[in-house]
Amino acid sequence: MKAPAKSSGLSSPAVSTPEARAVADPGREPGERDRLDLFALLAEHEHEQVSLYYDPSTGYRGIIAIHSTVLGPALGGTRFWSYPSDEAALIDCLRLARGMTYKAAVAGLNLGGGKSVIIGDNSTARREALFRAHGRHVESLKGRYITAEDVGTSTSDMEYIKAETNHVTGLIGRSGDPSPVTAYGVYRGMKACARYRYDSDSLAGKAVALQGCGSVGYHLAKLLFAEGADITCTDIDPRRVKRVVEECGAKAVASDAIYDVRANIFAPCALGAVINDDTVQRLQVEIVAGAANNQLAEDRHGDLLERRGITYAPDYVINGGGLINVNAELHGWAPERARSKAGEIYDTLLRVFEIAREERVPSYQAADRLAEQRIASIAQVRRNFV
Ligand code: NAD
Repeated sequence: MKAPAKSSGLSSPAVSTPEARAVADPGREPGERDRLDLFALLAEHEHEQVSLYYDPSTGYRGIIAIHSTVLGPALGGTRFWSYPSDEAALIDCLRLARGMTYKAAVAGLNLGGGKSVIIGDNSTARREALFRAHGRHVESLKGRYITAEDVGTSTSDMEYIKAETNHVTGLIGRSGDPSPVTAYGVYRGMKACARYRYDSDSLAGKAVALQGCGSVGYHLAKLLFAEGADITCTDIDPRRVKRVVEECGAKAVASDAIYDVRANIFAPCALGAVINDDTVQRLQVEIVAGAANNQLAEDRHGDLLERRGITYAPDYVINGGGLINVNAELHGWAPERARSKAGEIYDTLLRVFEIAREERVPSYQAADRLAEQRIASIAQVRRNFV
């Protein structure tokens, strides 16, 4: 069985790892060892390579998972997390790496999918040696894997990695905060949803329920306000809500009330798993389109949205701007080029909806098919020695 093609953001401190916790086995006897069927796991998640590295001098324990390099070097951030078991760390890494393959493929980038994890307490102050050990691990793969920031890591950690390898992005003073590019991609994606749904991509007068007024949510609200959308917003941080209310004429609601707001569009820009058994029935919208990673608690919630007639913009398609921004840093693109590439999310989403209609599948499955089609066609082109 295939693992779900969900992805993590490259720079999302808000992401927790419920998937990691789910595989912990609280019933295990003390001292009982994990039975880890490594190659069966790789086969299940369809990975090319997994590398494990232990450095006794620092206690560094790292895993790098390379899911696919068909389209290019495998790119994905380094997650620093205290996992309940090595198996939990490995499975998290495999799932996240696979998600990156799909995200890069639908964004039209020449990148494969990979991810790494460092197992340990991410609040440690002893970072230099640890991240340099990780840098050496990355370097040992000779460019098959490129790393970046993720949960538990920062741009200064990337600088330590850079001392040992060039295969790292998201450095201080380079591509910078990806949120404006991500927000622009989400805005363009929303317009594509509007075109699909209403035959016009104008968001003027459309009601948008915005969950999360953080980095992406704020920039998105500015774009929506400029176009004349009518915003209702929420955040657990009142200062962030105030900014969107004051600058974008938004109305504020309590955080749990956002699911009950009658609107055209629900824009999740805070947490993952917000489309779940509770919320999917409460939503009073026609479109779900937002930046958050892993919005569907489970794939079946994508089916439920479909059954309710709600148009869902698959998260890893609409939030690809962050990855596009990292790609821009790798290739030295000007900011305008990154923004214009993120704008292409509009056409990609329309293609996803077309596949969904033609093949009678929900949009989250259509997105996977689009990614798989691109990977298969490029694999075909590159099959001969030239
Ligand atoms: P952020 O941390 O700046 O903003 C998240 C906001 O959500 C915060 O203001 C936080 O207070 C709020 N929040 C947390 N719990 C909430 C709740 N229960 N109800 C309402 N608000 C809540 O993060 P961000 O960079 O804006 O990213 C937002 C989402 O988009 C994340 O899921 C992230 O993984 C994803 N994403 C971000 C990027 C990017 O470029 N930053 C790229 C791709 C995906």
